[in-house]
Amino acid sequence: MLFGALEAGGTKMVLAVGNENGEILEQISIPTETPSVTVSKIVDYFKDKNIVALGIGSFGPIDLDRISKTYGFITSTPKLAWRNYDIVGNIKNELQIPIGFDTDVNASALGEATWGSIKGLSSGIYITIGTGVGVGVYMNGELLHGMLHPEAGHILLSKHPKDNFEGVCPYHPNCLEGLASGPSIEKRWNQKAYELKDQTEVWEMEAFYIAQGIVNYILTLAPHKIVLGGGVMHQEQLFPSIRKQVTELMNGYVNTPQMEDLDNYIVPASLQDNQGIMGCIQLAKLELNKN
Ligand code: ADP
Ligand code: ZN
Repeated sequence: MLFGALEAGGTKMVLAVGNENGEILEQISIPTETPSVTVSKIVDYFKDKNIVALGIGSFGPIDLDRISKTYGFITSTPKLAWRNYDIVGNIKNELQIPIGFDTDVNASALGEATWGSIKGLSSGIYITIGTGVGVGVYMNGELLHGMLHPEAGHILLSKHPKDNFEGVCPYHPNCLEGLASGPSIEKRWNQKAYELKDQTEVWEMEAFYIAQGIVNYILTLAPHKIVLGGGVMHQEQLFPSIRKQVTELMNGYVNTPQMEDLDNYIVPASLQDNQGIMGCIQLAKLELNKN
């Protein structure tokens, strides 16, 4: 059985066809232009692929409340052309198949829960540190939604004592995304993030912010696993530093076996950067089973 997968990002869309085992059989990437241009390319790509359902992991915020009039819409995004756009409805009108829909980071959490590091566990979170910071939450065997989906990239943090940078988030002077996303590193240090590899102060400060985020997620969600992905996490030296600072910030308060074994608790994404697109396949499968 074939499933379609669409990772809808602010700059590019990744389109793939895969099977029920999460194997990607073909994949393309197209730039994100206006909804009418991009969605017709998406429909053209999928229409003769014999897929039985499509899963979309989307940038947001998005409406995931199935009884809402705007379910399936991208809502208050700063990308103006996509604001209040019915992405699920418009694609469904053309393809006439079930469409699973969630945030890009929830899709990645689902990919890790189905085929990766969260597999076999009842909970886990996926944190991306990339152009933005986002957190997907898998809890009690399901993706977590409430009034909205989690927007945990924007949690507020204490500033590092040596950090005079004002952050890049237009909404918050001291949120995780504003202080630790790829663009924030590049603006603070005035250099491309990958060129800063040998500068220990850069990664010590970066780990300080990511560790604060993780401590807050442990305290509020108590996940069984924490998976870190996104472009910035390709700096592998961050992992030991994050684990050390999590231990220091937690200060012994949470005492589970996982906290004694952070090498296996705070881990890199395990699916070769395919966790998002594979999660979209699983979203499609789950939606098909609901129908
Ligand atoms: P997106 O978040 O847009 O899906 P990525 O997760 O690839 O994309 O994140 C892109 C960001 O990650 C860029 O802003 C860049 O600053 C940062 N980045 C990409 N590659 C690296 C790297 N090797 N080292 C550090 N930072 C990186
Ligand atoms: Zn913010």
